[in-house]
Amino acid sequence: MTEQATVDQVHDVVIIGSGPAGYTAAVYTARANLNPIVLAGSVTAGGELMNTTDVENFPGFQDGIQGPELMMNMEAQARRFGADIRHEDATELKLDQRVKEISLGSGGVLHARSVILATGSAYRELGVPGEKQLSGHGVSWCATCDGFFFREQAIAVVGGGDSAMEEALFLTKFASKVYVIHRREELRASQIMADRAKANEKIEFIWNSEVTEVRGEGKVSQLALRNTVDGSESTLDVTGLFVAIGHDPRVDLFKDQLTLTDEGTVEVQGRTSKTSLPGVFAAGDVLDPHYRQAITAAGSGCVAALDVEAYLAEASETDAAETQQAETIPA
Ligand SMILES: Cc1cc2nc3c(=O)[nH]c(=O)nc-3n(C[C@H](O)[C@H](O)[C@H](O)COP(=O)(O)OP(=O)(O)OC[C@H]3O[C@@H](n4cnc5c(N)ncnc54)[C@H](O)[C@@H]3O)c2cc1C
Repeated sequence: MTEQATVDQVHDVVIIGSGPAGYTAAVYTARANLNPIVLAGSVTAGGELMNTTDVENFPGFQDGIQGPELMMNMEAQARRFGADIRHEDATELKLDQRVKEISLGSGGVLHARSVILATGSAYRELGVPGEKQLSGHGVSWCATCDGFFFREQAIAVVGGGDSAMEEALFLTKFASKVYVIHRREELRASQIMADRAKANEKIEFIWNSEVTEVRGEGKVSQLALRNTVDGSESTLDVTGLFVAIGHDPRVDLFKDQLTLTDEGTVEVQGRTSKTSLPGVFAAGDVLDPHYRQAITAAGSGCVAALDVEAYLAEASETDAAETQQAETIPA
């Protein structure tokens, strides 16, 4: 295909992102004959679940499934229906026009009648040695996902906000002990959440402290800590570390073109995936400040695909009516 032909072609839908939201949107739009193009990312194809081991809460896998295997299955399922999955990045978008322009890391430009933004959300990391290596082997960012694996074990949560308290309280259902490690002497969490956490006898606070290293052979066994006031160092023996210091929706690419919520996620209309721009839809964690699960992302990808279908059907009716009107106006 010549470069001219590529530029001239206007695709029905381009999906940006290849997590559960992007791939589910791809399955639905491909089965609706919309020939979706999925920009899966040049190095991060498959999304967040590529960084984990057992996924036990995605329906349909009674014995659980490894995160990367689940994502490869989703990719294969989307390909089976003809989705064109490209391992490359969208680097620039022009969304406020009828035909959207998507610039690619490889240098080309795609044109599309509709776009689904499914770029996910990045959990903030501590950035200390051992954290990445032991991710999925004791280091987690999601108590709902992984709490179950820590029955009767001593574990730690890092953070001082509402979500850290929520994670810690949830984890007391499983763990024998939950240490909450916080850099300061006071929590950022709301009073009610702080009171609840402080009243729970399984929770012990370690104030004015930060984690400097996550240690363990193949799985977490110990944390190295530093006191933020006097610089003294200590260790804490735990089998799990939950990092709850926030997350950043991946909106850099389009945040100047769309309305965002106060939490920084893409704002959508009610239960739909419709953003503030016609023909632009969002799905998954990028619009979700709260639930952030693989299954909610997948469900949201389905919603976006159905919304795209309806949008394109309506747009083509409008186009046909306009053409007919133009043809009947005398010259
Ligand atoms: C370690 C870990 C373990 C987890 N375990 C579980 C679990 O057991 N169960 C569960 O339900 N949930 C779990 N989660 C949460 C779950 O992974 C997320 O809720 C889910 O992946 C969100 O899906 P998504 O499609 O919205 O985004 P993501 O999975 O984050 O995917 C976003 C995609 O967008 C792509 N992208 C971003 N920008 C661009 C761009 N410019 N161009 C092209 N592509 C781009 C990325 O490459 C990525 O592929 C876990 C999360 C983590 C971090």
